[in-house]
Amino acid sequence: SDNMSLRVPPPQSLREALKVPDRYMFGPGPSNVPPRILEAGARPVIGHMHPEIFEIMSDIKSGIQYLFQTQNKMTFAVSGTGHSAMECAIFNTVEPGDSVLTAVNGIWGERAAEMAERIGGRVNAIVAPPGGIFTNEDIEKALSKHRPALFFLAHGESSTGVLHPLDGIGQLCHKYNCLFLVDSVASMGGSPLHMDQQEIDILYTGSQKVLNAPPGTAPISFSERACRKTKPLSFFLDFNWLTNYWGCDDKPTRVYHHTGPVTAFYSLRESLAVLCEEGLEASWERHRTVAEYFHAGLENIGLKLFVKDKQVRLPTVTTIIAPHGYDWKEITSYIMRTHNLEISGGLGPSAGLVLRVGLMGCNSSRTNVDMVLSALTDALQHCHRSKV
Ligand code: PMP
Repeated sequence: SDNMSLRVPPPQSLREALKVPDRYMFGPGPSNVPPRILEAGARPVIGHMHPEIFEIMSDIKSGIQYLFQTQNKMTFAVSGTGHSAMECAIFNTVEPGDSVLTAVNGIWGERAAEMAERIGGRVNAIVAPPGGIFTNEDIEKALSKHRPALFFLAHGESSTGVLHPLDGIGQLCHKYNCLFLVDSVASMGGSPLHMDQQEIDILYTGSQKVLNAPPGTAPISFSERACRKTKPLSFFLDFNWLTNYWGCDDKPTRVYHHTGPVTAFYSLRESLAVLCEEGLEASWERHRTVAEYFHAGLENIGLKLFVKDKQVRLPTVTTIIAPHGYDWKEITSYIMRTHNLEISGGLGPSAGLVLRVGLMGCNSSRTNVDMVLSALTDALQHCHRSKV
């Protein structure tokens, strides 16, 4: 190798200083990270096995227990985004050949089904049109027909803007000896949820939505019933390894599994501290009233909400029917260009049908609603409108 010369030169672009714009992050995520949380993540790196990081992880664990309203010992954060928590939940509860039931009323049920299929699960779905929900009768019928080991439901279906009711479903799952898995990536902290009282067995969320932390950590919790004893197919997402790293098990020592993203843990801890200061109920109420104010404002400027039933509108992510005669992509680009503000189009089954606006955590305020409404009004005046 002494006689080998470098064939790949350092790229010219890396000689330029890092440039990052400051934007209004009002899409379905990530949301804006306030200075306090950004600064927490800028503190010095320490070891992922130092006593001080274990202390910080323990604080995070208590914060998640409050956020989820659970006493579960097996509560921690996955080193990765929401998808990693989703796979952590599914890999640790589904064995090849297991029957799995997913509720599909948007993209998240589809993704959960695909993950379970990859492990060799026998997957059945109950399907509702995008924007729709399932009744407890629909769910019970499917549970008794398919006898699944696991039932997946998205609490906040961010592709369609639906907040799914949860009451009674955990009890139904347990009547049929099935674990209840709930995705609350888009809803957690912005809408009421009580993990233990609602008998949810596995619950996860993400750091980059209501929590206003950078993407990259994903809180998760497992009930006693859901605790895995055998080895799952994934090493990285192995429940037993992860709960040992997070000090959730009764073993006297923690063994190195992976290098925890310590600075991401600092930000997550700070974001949980912010939420604890406001209080869950105050946060739920703020998201609810700001969303109602937003939805009324949208109707005032002639836009229509995609979810007809007010009771099941997700307060964190709003879906607006793509205005007739316009190209939705032109609207989102125009608003980004002229207002420095991100809103997005649809995703999966709602692609092309909707615009999506997320007002999560610190972004959920009347001031921000007014800003989005004036950006939309401006876009409707200036974007090309076909005569049809
Ligand atoms: N579930 C829901 C409901 C989501 O909104 C998202 C993120 N849009 C995810 C899962 C996946 O999270 P991530 O993008 O952080 O992997």
